Amino acid sequence: TFRVPWVDDQSRIRVNRGYAIEMNSSIGPYKGGMRFHPSVNQSILKFLAFEQVFKNALTTLPLGGGAAGCDFEPKGKSDDEVMRFCQSFMAEMVRHMGAHTDIPGGDIGVGSREIGYLFGAYKKLTNQFTGALTGKGLQWGGSRFRPEAAGYGCVYFAAEMLATRGMAIEEQTCLVSGSGNVAQHTAEKLIQLGARVVTLSDSSGHVFDPDGIDAEKLAFVKRLKNLRRGRIREYADKYPHAVYTPADPSLDHNPLWSRRADCVFPCATQNEIGEKDAYALINNSVKLVCEGANMPCSSEAIAVLLGKKILYAPGKAANAGGVAVSGLELVQNSMRLSWLGEEVDERLRIIIREIHRTCLEAAEEYGTPGNYLNGANIAGFVKVVNAMVDQGVV
Ligand code: NDP
Repeated sequence: TFRVPWVDDQSRIRVNRGYAIEMNSSIGPYKGGMRFHPSVNQSILKFLAFEQVFKNALTTLPLGGGAAGCDFEPKGKSDDEVMRFCQSFMAEMVRHMGAHTDIPGGDIGVGSREIGYLFGAYKKLTNQFTGALTGKGLQWGGSRFRPEAAGYGCVYFAAEMLATRGMAIEEQTCLVSGSGNVAQHTAEKLIQLGARVVTLSDSSGHVFDPDGIDAEKLAFVKRLKNLRRGRIREYADKYPHAVYTPADPSLDHNPLWSRRADCVFPCATQNEIGEKDAYALINNSVKLVCEGANMPCSSEAIAVLLGKKILYAPGKAANAGGVAVSGLELVQNSMRLSWLGEEVDERLRIIIREIHRTCLEAAEEYGTPGNYLNGANIAGFVKVVNAMVDQGVV
């Protein structure tokens, strides 16, 4: 835990609180997301790091589990402020990380801009150009398909799940929450595969577009969020058929999840689907809930979904494509070359198919057939624990 002092555009001194969590390195260097959001505290990063240990074990790549972050709010800050903050954050973080030690990547509030500033500071402080951070720009060590990987992988996983019941993703009506990295690319792949995406959201509210969000509308959202850093309500100004519903913190449910749909992709943040939301989804005959975010369903909601035999995929399996392609970014950095997009996408598909198979086999072996949650937890746990036992008491 460390202080992150920086100076804002009005020359005022600000101090944030940063954290680096190193949870388990028995199968590889610590690796996980880095989150910049006012809600960040040690407890949240510990749950992310704990989940990450088992997720990384499932990817088939040699990666341990960790997390990092800060209670800094990038929203509303100038690029200069974000840069000064990132440089100060890295001044401490650099002591803990390294290509063979701890390799942070993106998460909420940490996208290509932040990774750029962090990597620049890391390089200056260490005098080394290494793969010690992932999510780097394509021209300076990044991998093709890394920005897309978590979202695309999530849809590939959903397609595998639907196939077990003789269904396809095409023509399914889908709810997607969030409008950041994972949500944008989940929606993009769903649209490419012929599904109908009808919602997106941010922390202020959600938009419902009964006509469906197509590639052109999604391009507007990408410009809005990634370049202008605007709010999702502007979607409804641009496309008048869409309805904007502001978030209401006094409610014990989220109206987004009361929209009728076949497939649901929570891609914003933890605990965004509670028990009441799960019942609302079931009342609307939902077939599948596939977690793009980390732990977006509360444990009560998961119990409801599993009780009704809904296809449910935990984030540690469904969104593992993100860290998997980060692992591939590290491989490319070590080899000092850059693979073509088709090659990375094909590897991503193979990894996701493998994770899906591993989850189903572990679920079957331990007496809970079709339960992806048990399958993912057990398969990830067994791999990590066997490595820990092999390596002795250290
Ligand atoms: P982004 O910062 O790109 O986007 C986050 C989105 O979620 C934004 O739309 C944001 O809205 C919304 N959001 C954040 N916090 C809240 C909140 N408390 N309530 C409601 N909405 C909220 O993050 P990512 O897309 O990268 O991450 C989303 C999820 O996916 C996280 O759970 C993350 O851990 C997980 N994940 C990310 C991976 C990655 O590679 N980036 C890989 C695997 C999982 P607003 O703009 O208003 O804050």
